[in-house]
Amino acid sequence: MTTPAQLERLQEHCQHLRLFKSRERLEALLQDATTTEATYGDFLEAVLTEEVSSKAEKNVTMRTHLARFPFVKTLEAFDWSYQPAPDKKQVQGLATCRFIETGENVILLGPPGVGKTHLAVGLGLKAIQHGYRVLFTTAAAMLATLTKGLSENRLEEKLKLYTVPRLLLIDEIGYLPIDRQGANLFFQLISRRYERGPVILTSNQSFTNWGEVFGDRVIATAILDRLLHHGITVTIRGDSYRLKEKIKAGLLKGAEATS
Ligand code: ADP
Ligand code: MG
Repeated sequence: MTTPAQLERLQEHCQHLRLFKSRERLEALLQDATTTEATYGDFLEAVLTEEVSSKAEKNVTMRTHLARFPFVKTLEAFDWSYQPAPDKKQVQGLATCRFIETGENVILLGPPGVGKTHLAVGLGLKAIQHGYRVLFTTAAAMLATLTKGLSENRLEEKLKLYTVPRLLLIDEIGYLPIDRQGANLFFQLISRRYERGPVILTSNQSFTNWGEVFGDRVIATAILDRLLHHGITVTIRGDSYRLKEKIKAGLLKGAEATS
């Protein structure tokens, strides 16, 4: 039997070794082991399994926080029956995160409200579960940071923010016009990440319109060339999910909602 004094010593050891879960669960697990007459191996396995999963969970929580997602929504929470596309199999293939190993970019295209950001975040969460470092940003926020960096002579430092994470999510390309300097900075970033770490991009504009989005056909072509060389495009069609309830209630027709 474990004496109270011994339990206290064991808990102190756990604390010292930062085995917080074991510290919390030790007493109950010791009792369980006594009741079930568990072997030494079973007991140790029970303690370590709980510690390992607790640490893994904390790690995921911390890295989810660091990724700065606008919301946390999983692929599992995506309603595949609502939109005719995306192709569930294609997205599930991406959820294995092989695209990160092979360095393939993912571009999610579709009108507003169809779940581009949701899918990007869902894939980002999968990447975190696979142990990758992930960062979410919008095109506008990233370009504002890079532009500021350029004017303060700290461009290198700011570029690193976006090149260090193994997976970078750039949301909302095409909503706001990008000026010439912005287009140049975007190109620099994509060139740096090219064949190093992949990006997931979302856009409401088809590739043919990217010349206008970037205000320059040549730069847009150069950006697309690098993105699509190793790139997977996922096209989402259908009605805005945001307006789903209104459409259901007959306040709006589907076609009006997406136009
Ligand atoms: P987009 O980025 O394409 O404009 P979002 O990803 O922001 O759209 O989606 C708008 C809202 O609708 C979010 O709250 C998202 O979770 C939800 N949503 C969109 N499509 C679906 C879907 N098929 N299943 C579940 N939720 C969805
Ligand atoms: Mg969005």
